[in-house]
Amino acid sequence: MRHRIRKIDVHLVSAPVLGGFADATRKVETIGFVIVRITTDQGLEGIGVTYHEVGGEATCELINRNMTPRLIGRDPLETEAIWQEFFHYLRGVGRKGLMYCALSAVDIALWDLKGKIVDLPVYKLLGGDRTKVPVYASGGWTSYSDDQLVDEIKGMVARGFTTVKFKVGFDGGRNPRRDAERVRKVREAVGPDINLMVDANNSFDAATAVQLANRIREYDIFLFEEPVFADDIPGLARFKRGTDIPLATGEHEYTKFGVRDLLMHDAADIVQVDGARAGGYTEMLKCAALTQAWNVKFAPHAMENLHLHLVAAVPNALFLERLLMFEDITAQVFDGAPLPIDGHMHVPDLPGLGLKLNMDFIRERDETSPASHA
Ligand SMILES: [Mg+2]
Repeated sequence: MRHRIRKIDVHLVSAPVLGGFADATRKVETIGFVIVRITTDQGLEGIGVTYHEVGGEATCELINRNMTPRLIGRDPLETEAIWQEFFHYLRGVGRKGLMYCALSAVDIALWDLKGKIVDLPVYKLLGGDRTKVPVYASGGWTSYSDDQLVDEIKGMVARGFTTVKFKVGFDGGRNPRRDAERVRKVREAVGPDINLMVDANNSFDAATAVQLANRIREYDIFLFEEPVFADDIPGLARFKRGTDIPLATGEHEYTKFGVRDLLMHDAADIVQVDGARAGGYTEMLKCAALTQAWNVKFAPHAMENLHLHLVAAVPNALFLERLLMFEDITAQVFDGAPLPIDGHMHVPDLPGLGLKLNMDFIRERDETSPASHA
């Protein structure tokens, strides 16, 4: 039975982040989700989500005003054609940033619908066979005291995570000696069997980052994330030459072209593009294929519920990231979303992405104007 897109609803839900979480380069004040629901004339609904700290209203407007009219009446299975059309439609006003957050949410909803139309989980559509995927816990802000940091990491381990990530770049990246001390304290607290990963959130120059990498090398670091500006590709390459700690980056990249540039310049060992920003499932599959061709790892940033099927199907995918800061809003927005057990998440054996929205919560908290999704 042929489906046509009949209706698109867009919702914006956000929550203030209390407690003054900060990494090396910014304080996190709000996290928000833009939720897209695409309904077909046969009554199936696909769900897509993107997220933001700022700009969610603009993402909603872009979807409502500019994308929706071009989607009504289309066959939702035409994901590739629709992606290409929007790439050319939007390219003059943004090839990175909010444009791609909007396109990502729409594309993810189309993939969810695709699975529902053919009655298969998305990972099956992608040819995957993994039903359970490793997930790591992510937090450990630089705004924490050393004791708070150690306590949070020990809490992650107590919950069954065997891979954990925390922030370096203490005092805005001006005190790598303190970072090394904090890494030592964490390693001593968790013992030798936990994979430790550090994230500098763009805070260092390459020379300082290499120096820090050399200082913490003895603590057996699984990966070092965003040591320098995401756009400092020569700096990333220099970091990679200066240490044998694997280099992870990519959460601020968009589309296959961003991934191509990282790979061409030998600027990543682990590519962390985020499907909720970089262009949805359609584009993430291409990003993943590029990493496979370069024989580097693929480890999508955040949004573990959206990335679960992708990581289950991509052969060189490492794991999912579960940001502890997102746990509350994720549990409120989704009804019965999969939870990590012993450092793994089970892929829902349900059509599409297998996610269910909590529409009572979303309607109650929706910040879009009622007129915009009438
Ligand atoms: Mg990061």
